[in-house]
Amino acid sequence: METAHPSMLDLLLETHIGLERQGPGSVEVIKQALEFLKPLDQFSKIADLGCGTGTQTLLLAKYLSGNITGLDIFPKFIDKLNENARNGNLASRVTGITGSMENLPFQKNSLDLIWSEGAIDNIGFEKGLSHWHDFLKKGGFVAVTCPSWLTKEQPTVVQKFWTDAGSRWDSISDNIETMQKCGYQFIASFALPEQCWTENYFIPREKAINNLLEKYAGNETMIEYAAQNRYETELYSRYSQYYGYIFYIGRVI
Ligand code: SAM
Repeated sequence: METAHPSMLDLLLETHIGLERQGPGSVEVIKQALEFLKPLDQFSKIADLGCGTGTQTLLLAKYLSGNITGLDIFPKFIDKLNENARNGNLASRVTGITGSMENLPFQKNSLDLIWSEGAIDNIGFEKGLSHWHDFLKKGGFVAVTCPSWLTKEQPTVVQKFWTDAGSRWDSISDNIETMQKCGYQFIASFALPEQCWTENYFIPREKAINNLLEKYAGNETMIEYAAQNRYETELYSRYSQYYGYIFYIGRVI
C-alpha cells in the first residue's frame, strides 16, 4: 500500500515500477550480445537474474525460443513481469519468481544461459559468477552487464558515491580475469553506448521523479531521494570517460 511517508526503498520502487528499464541498456545491445549465443534453441533453459520488471526478459523471449525464468528480489517487479508476460501471450515460456541472485533456486547443471543486466554489481562480479557457475550446464553461457572502470584513474567522488550505494566495480581486464578464474571461457566484452544511460534510463527516471516530487510535495525523504538520483546523473555527465557499463559474455568450460 502506498504511504504519505515513503521510505527511500518505497520511492525507488515507485520510480522504477513504471519505467521501461530499471537501469542502463537497450534493444540494440541485447541483440549484439545475442549474436555470441547462437547455439541456443527451443529446449534452452534461461535465467534472467535481477530482471526488474522484465522488459529485457520479454525481449529475450522474443529473440530466443527456450523457457525463461526471470528472478528478482522485489515481488512488485516480478508481479509486473508476470502480468506483462500474460498480456504478451508469453506466460507459457516466461515465468517470474521472487528470489536472490546469491541463492539460486535452480537445479545444478540445468541452465543453458544466465543473463543479467545491471544487477551483478549488487553482490560483486566474482561472487555472482562463481555462484552461478554450478547452475549452468557445461558449455552454458553467461551474459552479464556490470559497471566497470574504463581507466586506471578512478575519480574519488564517483568511487565514494557508488561504494556507498553498495555497488562494487573493477576494471574490464580484472573482470575478464575473474570470469576465467571462475571457470568460464571468456568470449567477448563490449561497452554500452552512452544513450543506454541517458535517453533510455536517466531521462525517463527524471520524469518519474518529477511526478513523485509533485505527489510527495515537501516530503524530506523525497527531496533527498531526488537529490541523490540527480547527483548520480550529474556524476555520469561529468565523469563518463572513466566508467561505463560493459557486457561480458562467457561460456562454462
Ligand atoms: N535487469 C533490469 C534492467 O536492466 O532493467 C533491472 C536492473 S536494476 C539496475 C537491478 C535489479 O537487480 C533490480 O531490479 C533489483 O531489485 C535487483 N536485485 C538487486 N539485488 C538483488 C539480489 N540480491 N537478488 C535478486 N535481485 C536483485
